[in-house]
Amino acid sequence: MLLLVLGTAAGGGLPQWNCACPGCAGARAHPARRRLHASLAVRARPGRWYLVNATPDIGPQIEAHPELLPSSAPGADARRSPLAGVVLTDAELDHTLGIARLREARDGVDVLATAPVRSAVRERLGLGAVLDPYTTVRWRALSGTGVPLEEGSAIRVGAVPVSAKRPRYAAAAEPDPAWSVALRLHDTGSGRTVLYAPALASWSEAFEAAAREADVVFADGTFWDDDEPVRAGFSQRTATAMGHLPVTGPGGTAHRLAALPGRCLYTHLNNTNPLGDPHAEQHKRLAEWGLEVAADRMVIEL
Ligand SMILES: [Zn+2]
Repeated sequence: MLLLVLGTAAGGGLPQWNCACPGCAGARAHPARRRLHASLAVRARPGRWYLVNATPDIGPQIEAHPELLPSSAPGADARRSPLAGVVLTDAELDHTLGIARLREARDGVDVLATAPVRSAVRERLGLGAVLDPYTTVRWRALSGTGVPLEEGSAIRVGAVPVSAKRPRYAAAAEPDPAWSVALRLHDTGSGRTVLYAPALASWSEAFEAAAREADVVFADGTFWDDDEPVRAGFSQRTATAMGHLPVTGPGGTAHRLAALPGRCLYTHLNNTNPLGDPHAEQHKRLAEWGLEVAADRMVIEL
């Protein structure tokens, strides 16, 4: 299995356009600290890639990776993109707005999503009717049992529900445990598994089981501790109340991840998270637990 880490930031990115907090100011002063919105690219088979979530940064994310670009070789079809589709973990704007950027897709695009996510993006966000005149979006069901990324691919993708939290624009929609899921990517050829959970509202038994059998776990690293959003002054709610278990403190995920057999990396860092500063002392604590922070442009092959 081959994965490209396209971005590792929570909503707004690092820096966020309207923010000059220490994290955002630090990223402006030190471009190496910049992080695009959290996303992965997964190779379904040679020359065919699927994005995990389509972010507002999708354009630069594709351009930064030659594997995702059409070939300019003589005789090659200059409009044939290796990007075949998108798999959605949820319907949040930061994970879905990039679908609109794919309107030029000549051969259409596959989007795999759970039923509530598909309905929200098509009907409430309006991307169904909006994109119809431009390209063909082929919606495919994402479920717990898993489906091949596409015909002929050894990679199967399945959903592990992690939160019933709906996006604000879909507040009137029905509750459903599949509003936000972790993705289980399993290579039937090598037997290796990656679990991708950019949002984790609670540590369920199903998530524990999936995490325990994964070779690599990408986990929700939005907030370092539960009070961070309140302390930073941008929310009255704690991290947990916002649907993100913090890294440390009561309910923190670090000690649970440290007990897993696989490699664990935090992703989806909010701009208030001290881990955005590579010199922050919090990195030492993570290292003591054997945990990592994912970086943009990281390549994972297993
Ligand atoms: Zn900021």
